[in-house]
Amino acid sequence: MAAPGPTTGAGTRHPDAEADVIVVGAGPAGSTAAAYLARAGLDVLLLEKSTFPRPKVCGDGLTPRGMKQLIDLGIDCSERNGWLHNKGLRVVGGGVSLELEWPTLASFPDYGAVRPRQDFDELLARHAEKCGARLHEDTAVTEAVTDERSGRVTGVAGHVGKGKDRRPVSFRAPLTLACDGVSARVALSLGMARRDDRPMGVAVRRYYTSPRSHDDYLESHLELWDRRDPARPRLLPGYGWIFGMGDGTSNVGLGILSTSRAFGSTDYRALLTSWLDGTPQEWGYREENAIGQVGGAALPMGFNRTPHYRPGLLLVGDAGGMVNPFNGEGIAYAMESAAIAARCAVQGLARAGASREAALAAYPARMSQALGGYYRIGNTFSKLIGNPAVMHIATRHGLPRKTVMAFLLKLLANLYDPEEGNISDRVITAMTRLAPSL
Ligand SMILES: Cc1cc2nc3c(=O)[nH]c(=O)nc-3n(C[C@H](O)[C@H](O)[C@H](O)COP(=O)(O)OP(=O)(O)OC[C@H]3O[C@@H](n4cnc5c(N)ncnc54)[C@H](O)[C@@H]3O)c2cc1C
Repeated sequence: MAAPGPTTGAGTRHPDAEADVIVVGAGPAGSTAAAYLARAGLDVLLLEKSTFPRPKVCGDGLTPRGMKQLIDLGIDCSERNGWLHNKGLRVVGGGVSLELEWPTLASFPDYGAVRPRQDFDELLARHAEKCGARLHEDTAVTEAVTDERSGRVTGVAGHVGKGKDRRPVSFRAPLTLACDGVSARVALSLGMARRDDRPMGVAVRRYYTSPRSHDDYLESHLELWDRRDPARPRLLPGYGWIFGMGDGTSNVGLGILSTSRAFGSTDYRALLTSWLDGTPQEWGYREENAIGQVGGAALPMGFNRTPHYRPGLLLVGDAGGMVNPFNGEGIAYAMESAAIAARCAVQGLARAGASREAALAAYPARMSQALGGYYRIGNTFSKLIGNPAVMHIATRHGLPRKTVMAFLLKLLANLYDPEEGNISDRVITAMTRLAPSL
């Protein structure tokens, strides 16, 4: 099915440089899309700039929404198979600590998990290979290649190898999926900039040896206090997490939204240390127990790079700004957008001409249908909580009320049943349907 046709890309053609689909980036978005596409019988090239196993800065937390995606993909994520499940979220703030269990729903399992990205991403990439995708590691894409006359994306160019072994390469296919994460190299090479009217986050994390490594709950801190001077506790911007990794370590981090006044003018690494220095000594989050350095990256939220389709190219996962603006979760949405993109691609590539185009161009509408109303509300929510006064009031008055918080958990983690749910599910469904889609 691979298409012939001219390319304008520089570089030598790689020996197996043609495919039905090129997927750039083997993170959760790319490996998921590649697995679905290959399983449907397409010839898929999965290009990844690093080599596995490789580290990735992340909180390593999966909600039931992420677990659903893994189950759909055919990954055995049972405890029997070594997965560390959790049963809910512990929310801490306003002097209160509240344990909320993941809801029982038809659409999602009732457990989440933690799994280091170092091993999670490799697992997904190898799964894509097993499904038939051709994974090329150590292959960095620098730009999309377009047809001179039509402007259609016909492939990508980049380089393979490092140092003196580095050589230019180009690849060709009728369709490319940009799954290259927040750096969005492919989209940027086509001038597709990120949107300033959509929220962005920055998050940092570090691993610590800690007695809190075994925990049945993901822990979220809605207020970050610097308590090094007990006489004068100081409220810090942002909110944090403590995820027990079950191996003697915790993944601890914090995030700040672009809607916060502190965004951009903050030393995030110092902020993390100030918060952790104020947590109980016995938790162990001190320099002497730290493993590695503080790592950080941006969180592109609420569809902050659009359009998600231009002829020959789909933007998937972080490259399309798919992170949930309510809670900063990105893995589930990277995988979900990949599944939707793969469905459109499989339909499109089985056809020609205008019919192919109609199937591919449906991708943004399908994304909008799936998440547009919810993300519209999320973008507004992120503006509200960017204001510490609003956050403070919400924490004081919301946290002590378990029913309010159970509802908020469903809303913030996007865990509700649109069809068969209870009253709170129906309220959330109505809200997302009434909100104009993004
Ligand atoms: C500190 C922090 C904590 C987070 N915590 C969580 C969490 O606990 N749970 C959660 O769900 N989400 C979390 N996120 C968000 C989550 O990490 C991302 O949303 C998710 O990784 C997006 O997946 P992706 O596949 O779209 O992109 P990525 O995971 O970024 O994958 C992109 C892949 O493309 C490759 N690549 C990039 N450029 C090129 C190129 N030019 N050529 C070839 N390959 C390329 C990269 O090497 C990478 O393998 C966190 C983010 C941060 C920064």
